[in-house]
Amino acid sequence: MAIAEAVKTYQNYIGGEWRDAGNGALLEIHDPGNGELVYRAPNSPVEDAHQAIAAARHAMETTDWGDNPNQRATALYKLAQALRASIEWLAPLLTREGGKPLSVSKAEVLRASDAIEYYGGLARNVYGRSTMLAPDSLAILIREPIGVISIIVPWNMALSLLTRSLAPALAAGNAVIIKPSSVTPGATAEFVKMIDDIAEFPRGVVNFVVGPGSTTGAELVKHPDVDMVAFTGDTGTGKEIMRMAADTLKKVGLELGGKSPNIVFADADFDRAVRGALNGASMFHAGQVCVAGSRVLVEESVHDRFVEKLTEITKRLRLGHGLKEGVQAGPVINEGQLNRVMGYIEQGKRDAQLITGGRRATEGELGKGYFIEPTIFDHVPIEASIAQDEIFGPVLAIQTFTDEEDAARVANSTVYGLAGAVWTNDISKALRVAKKVKSGMVWVNTFGKLYAAGEMGGYKQSGIGRQYGLEGLWEYTEMKHINVQLDKSTRIVPEIGD
Ligand code: NDP
Repeated sequence: MAIAEAVKTYQNYIGGEWRDAGNGALLEIHDPGNGELVYRAPNSPVEDAHQAIAAARHAMETTDWGDNPNQRATALYKLAQALRASIEWLAPLLTREGGKPLSVSKAEVLRASDAIEYYGGLARNVYGRSTMLAPDSLAILIREPIGVISIIVPWNMALSLLTRSLAPALAAGNAVIIKPSSVTPGATAEFVKMIDDIAEFPRGVVNFVVGPGSTTGAELVKHPDVDMVAFTGDTGTGKEIMRMAADTLKKVGLELGGKSPNIVFADADFDRAVRGALNGASMFHAGQVCVAGSRVLVEESVHDRFVEKLTEITKRLRLGHGLKEGVQAGPVINEGQLNRVMGYIEQGKRDAQLITGGRRATEGELGKGYFIEPTIFDHVPIEASIAQDEIFGPVLAIQTFTDEEDAARVANSTVYGLAGAVWTNDISKALRVAKKVKSGMVWVNTFGKLYAAGEMGGYKQSGIGRQYGLEGLWEYTEMKHINVQLDKSTRIVPEIGD
């Protein structure tokens, strides 16, 4: 008889110590693909957030982490290596807690380690500037760490979304408290164990607290000893975070929702554009990707042919548990999300034309998980909720346009501005349209490629600030101007009008 593997129970990590939640409460995390219990994690009260904040503050005040770029670079390089080496056992955990196919989880581990390595390189390059402001006045502009930063992340890409904030925050010399989603804290706990094993991270520089967003998460935003909040998640939550941060006027970085347009012109490479539309919709992760091209805008003259081909390849997608060989599309994260997405689909049936999908998939093993058939709606009016709202489900809305102006008008018709793409073989047209699309990222003849060295972020209600690249590092620094008087003049204070 096979001995059942013991279900792990994770802990918080505060000031370099592993601890249970102060009240002993636990969350049970179930696999969205089959309902099995995967692990338990703390469900911490606000007191644990207080302890983590105090530990981070103490580390900032008592260690030279903020002034030691070599140590930070070494720590981050070691972390990148440890994470990359974990791929074979950590990626399956990402799949079990979040549902995405194993290949996607592996890509996530690699993207996360790449971001850490990239910012490890930049840790020694947190340069300021210096300049003469007047014949007797030297400006020295130095970049300093902001201090204690709460990093609050969602469940859909728990590790890559964490590390794109964590790595620059640490590279710049800050101390952090990580608050993962209560839905997927396990892979992050394993990742924090790797940090614990690296001697170059002083105790208290990285803390990890699992607890409810509405209480423990909110405390990590409101507390006066937190200097910045780096939040990735829903636009509604982002607005709430900004309101809560206002009382102490702390800096916020917000990476929020999207409804990205994938714009296909008639002169595009047809087959690549069709594949790009399907990949862009992120059906592999049941549409649960912030930059997902959940709207496809097709030039009228190729509309019918395009929809026919897209439908054909969408129907062939193999739905199933992410650890199963050959599976191309996973489940939505939980029952709440399933019901929410099905609600949008029912509304979509009233507002537009259902082309394929539209049902919960329950055949065989699928019945044990939260699977929804990849769904396409055609002729979707601009004002329909399936064209306006971020559904975060496997639901693609097709709209049409007549010319460049019309494409930009439809593309910009939502409150979001996270990403988008233009498919055409006319590079001038691609650039004209890319400039007109109001979003932080526009791909040309591709979709969804993200690089540690390439900035991304939201226009409009998709967020504030930038992730990745140099801009992503500067987000976690304060600029200080030290002004030096160079001559021996006795006139210290300038006269009015000087
Ligand atoms: P939520 O906004 O519900 O939650 C995100 C995180 O915030 C979780 O850790 C959650 O904790 C916490 N939280 C919730 N309420 C509060 C609060 N009042 N104060 C402080 N923290 C809080 O988002 P989801 O987890 O549902 O993730 C999906 C969303 O994330 C989508 O809208 C998606 O577009 C967006 N996203 C944006 C990305 C971007 O780069 N722009 C990337 C990926 C996702 P808990 O889990 O305990 O509730």
